[in-house]
Amino acid sequence: MNFHIMTLFPEMIEGAANTSILGRAIDKGLLSVNAVDIREYTANKHNRVDDYTYGGGAGMLMQAQPIYDCYMNLQPVREGRKVRTIYMTPQAKVFNQDMAREFAKEEDIVFLCGHYEGIDERVLEEIVTDYVSIGDYVLTGGELPALVCMDAIARMVPGVLGNEVSGETESFDDGLLEYPQYSRPEEWKGKRVPDVLLSGHHANIEKWRHEQSLCRTKERRPDLYEKYLATHEKL
Ligand code: SAM
Repeated sequence: MNFHIMTLFPEMIEGAANTSILGRAIDKGLLSVNAVDIREYTANKHNRVDDYTYGGGAGMLMQAQPIYDCYMNLQPVREGRKVRTIYMTPQAKVFNQDMAREFAKEEDIVFLCGHYEGIDERVLEEIVTDYVSIGDYVLTGGELPALVCMDAIARMVPGVLGNEVSGETESFDDGLLEYPQYSRPEEWKGKRVPDVLLSGHHANIEKWRHEQSLCRTKERRPDLYEKYLATHEKL
């Protein structure tokens, strides 16, 4: 899977993408991350990418031309391949695990990161296929949102997680938050690992984990819990 990130700050993307699990997946050839500097596509001699907004108002807007030219020069676009092009914006549906799973089916994904007051609407109409937010708050740029989405999508790509199973039994996969987990030692600061987890009784462990997932979801995310109950069972 190939990620193409259109940004004014490619170093932000490169630094984060080349570490840990994503970095290893890139080394293994499972992913590629191509951060492209929009500023390289400016047509003016001062390398400006922003200008005042028509109609007045504070702040600057990223102009259409450099973004469009940058997009047209991306390899999959040049080769005429179909690409999902995601504009990271607070003006959109909030990203979730289902969206991560859906995007993970693509071969190429383009992220467009805005800055300043955002981006001239006309280029968005021209190239964007999906508008995605990471939450109901406003950040200074789209780089952190793009990294958040890229990380969540990448771990859905087969082989990226060392242990495939761990990607299937996590929070949200069945509409619930994950149960509490413990590692060695059996007792720490007077707190013992629940007996059932030491019992070796598989069915009881599964039952305990499911109950814990339900309790945790009810307490921490009542919205998810209600949705789960509506489609599954009553506690
Ligand atoms: N003026 C815009 C508005 O009110 O919707 C906000 C612009 S914001 C300061 C600059 C850029 O940060 C946006 O173009 C977008 O790419 C990114 N951004 C900010 N908050 C975001 C969020 N919650 N999710 C995704 N992207 C975000």
